[in-house]
This record gives sequence, C-alpha cells and structure tokens, in this order.
Amino acid sequence: MANAEHGTGGGSPNQQLLRLIPKVDEFLGWVEGAADAPALLVKGTVRELLAELRSAILAGEPVSAADLDRAALTPAFEAKLAVKLTPNFRTVINGTGVVVHTNLGRSILPESAMAMLQQVGGRYSNLEFDLTTGRRGSRYSLVEELLCELTGAEAGLVVNNNAAAVLLVLETLAAGREVVVSRGQLVEIGGSFRIPDVMAKSGATLVEVGATNRTHLRDYQAAITDQAALLLKVHTSNFKVIGFTSEVSLEELVALAGQHGLPVMEDLGSGCFVDLSRFGLAKEPTVQEVVRAGVDVVTFSGDKLLGGPQAGIILGRRKYIDRIKKNPMNRALRIDKFTLAGLEAILRLYFDEEKALSAIPTLAMLSMPLEVIERRAKRLVRRIRAALAGRCEVQLLPIESRVGGGALPEQGLASRAVALLPADRSVNSLEVDLRRGTPPVVGRIEADRFLLDMRTVADDEITELAASLCRAFGVAPV
Ligand SMILES: *Cc1c(COP(=O)(O)O)cnc(C)c1O
Repeated sequence: MANAEHGTGGGSPNQQLLRLIPKVDEFLGWVEGAADAPALLVKGTVRELLAELRSAILAGEPVSAADLDRAALTPAFEAKLAVKLTPNFRTVINGTGVVVHTNLGRSILPESAMAMLQQVGGRYSNLEFDLTTGRRGSRYSLVEELLCELTGAEAGLVVNNNAAAVLLVLETLAAGREVVVSRGQLVEIGGSFRIPDVMAKSGATLVEVGATNRTHLRDYQAAITDQAALLLKVHTSNFKVIGFTSEVSLEELVALAGQHGLPVMEDLGSGCFVDLSRFGLAKEPTVQEVVRAGVDVVTFSGDKLLGGPQAGIILGRRKYIDRIKKNPMNRALRIDKFTLAGLEAILRLYFDEEKALSAIPTLAMLSMPLEVIERRAKRLVRRIRAALAGRCEVQLLPIESRVGGGALPEQGLASRAVALLPADRSVNSLEVDLRRGTPPVVGRIEADRFLLDMRTVADDEITELAASLCRAFGVAPV
C-alpha cells in the first residue's frame, strides 16, 4: 500500500517492475477458457510463472516492462502449462545400443506379456485365490511350477527384484551366523547395492576369503567354523578380473559345503535361460546349469538377460525355499500383480527356445544379425539424408553395442550406427534438443558426431525417429 501511494514513478527500477507483474486473478482472466486444463493446474502454473518473474527481477536479471505484459506472458504460460500436461513418465527412443539399459527401463516386454498386463490390470484376477479349492492361494504359485519345469529346480519364489532376493535369502538362512564369500566377489552393482552392505543389513556376518584376484578351495575350507551358515558365490557381472586369477567352481563349492552340511547360494545377477554364446557372446552359466551343478539356492533378476519385468527370482531346494517363503520380510518385498502377469507370459515363451529368441526383445536384440541392423540403419538414412542436406552430414558407421545391465561388461557386439555431423550447430546442442524432444531420443556423442546405434531402435520407431531428427533441424520430414 505504501508503495502504491508513490505511483509507478517512485521506487527503484526493480520496484517499478515488480509493480507491473499482473495479479494472479488478472492473469487467470486472460487465460480463462484458453487452456483446456484442470483449474488447479492452470492456477499453479500462473503462480509459478509469476513467482519466477519476481525472483528474476529481484535477482537483477534483465527483465523489461515489455516482458511483463499480456502479449509476452500468455505464450510463456502456455509453454509452461504444456510441460505440466506432459506425463513425467514417457517412452524414449533408445539409440545408445545398450540393450539392457538400466536408466531407460532395462528390458522391454514382448506383446504377449503386455497383453497379460493389460488384462489383469483392468479386471479382477486369481492373484491369491486358488480356483480349484476356493481357498486363499499364494501369488508365487502362478509362476513357481513354470520356473521349476524350465530350470529343473525343486521349488522357487519371486520377489520385487534381485537385490531383495539376496537380502531375503541371507536373512532367512544366515542371520546371526557367518557367510563365507571370496574377496574377489564383494561386488558393488550400482545404486548402492554392495554385497558387504546387504550382508550387514541381513544380520549375517561376512567372512571374506582369498585375495582379490585368487581364491582357492582351501581358503573356503579354512574359513568354515561352527558359526558358518552358508557359502555364497556372487557372479561378478559388471567387471572382469584378468591376469593371474583363479576362482573356485560352483561344483567344488557344492562338494565342500556338502561335507560340512552347509548350503551354497549363488547370486547369479543376470540369470539367463539360453546359452547366448552361439551369438558370439561370452559363455555364461545358464540358470539350468547352475541348478544342475547342485546349488541350494540361486537368485537372479527378471529384467536383465531374462528379458522380463523387474523381479527377483529365487530357486533351489525345497527345504530352503520353504523357509524363505515363511520369512515375514517376504511380505515387504513381494512382487506385484503386473509383474507377475508379465513374468508368467515371458516364462511361457521359454518353453520354445527359438520362440523366446525371436519374441523376447532383449534376446532378439542381442542375437540380431548385423545385416538386419544394417538394413534398419539404411532405412533411417534414406528417410533423413535428403531432408537434412546442407544442414547435417548423415553417415553409416560401424559401432559396438553393449549388453548392459551389468552383464558381460567386456563384450562388444558388432553393430551399425547412423551418425549425424551437424554443419551449422554444435553436436552438443543437437543432443540436448533430441533428448528434450517428443519423443525423446537418446544417443551418444563420439568424435563430434551424434550416434544412433540401430540395434536398440525398433523398426516401428523409425518413422517417429526420422521426424524427431528433422524437427531438431527445423525441417519437415520427407
Ligand atoms: C544386478 C545384480 C543385482 C541386483 O539385481 P536387481 O534386480 O537390479 O535388484 C544383484 N547381484 C548381482 C550379481 C547383479 O548383477
């Protein structure tokens, strides 16, 4: 009020500008009906915009009177509202060539799994209801038998993710006692999952044996006391120790544990049901092989090489699995119905390995012949080269894709990239525009080029991708 008495001529330049900021109600009058959006969202957007102007003025940022009139503020409001109306969780085009990309959602699901998700999401289901007996059922029973048939395990259950699986197994079988692990396997998976930390949370005591690069059977032998509960093997999925190394095989551990009446657990990380070495990937033990080697409990992720939804799968001997199922912690780590629906559909595909390889996107992308990727890359090049002529050079380059998800870290897979070399703008600004576009496109920058590895771009994304690329250069797609 005191300020108003001085009129618009008084006060510092900042105060004059502050007085020009419209009132919320006035602004709402300008945009009334213009925006087909919930009133709450419109009001929030207006408040936010006006607060931003106020802080910009107070911070001495260059704001002029013209920036504060209706003609300038209405489009600013519309842009802000459009952002708020866009879902936060969106699909993106993955041009990184990392197949199991943790930040981009890891594995994507095949159609049969998506259809199941849709069905159980919108209708009631037998999630925990035994249709034969009419009694309460267990949610695991929907997938336990399938898992056992596929892997040869006696019993199994599924939880929220593999980190939860490891925690649950350790807590059930080893809380208050000792777990023997090789020093070379005390891994950190990322997102703060470290074996020693998970062990501490489970209440078990970690007994490290061997050296970082070499651990022998006698090291385990010497560490087994009457406090020992479990021998643990952890698959070193995201790094490789090379040179003078040695590891004890699962078979040897099983034999040693047997002599002491102890169980052996393996955290397999990316459990896979298919031997991918015939596609040029390094040989990794499959879940079936681990079960056959006599492991008592094995845990792995649902959304790494298995190619399903996020889940932690626990398989093994019935006497241990039964104890794990009874652990009350299980309730806190349980899997939800969408995940179960997706997981069941994925598991059914594995009964026919060839079908699994073609239908499960993760496996299809990992086993994709180079010619197919090259054809895809050429399709994209044909769509954009003429449109972008003069603005950007478009090339087809050899590149290496990665498996991702912490699996097979050293493994490169020969692939093809579409490379963009902008003529009159920086490659960094192109990367930003594509990432912020609709749909967002994520690629990588190498040697001043923006690269799109076509292994992870689906055929039916090419039209959309071509349009995004053209838009980033301000031209219409041809
Ligand atoms: C990925 C991984 C985990 C964690 O699995 P999530 O499903 O991501 O929780 C645990 N152990 C190993 C060895 C892994 O590779």
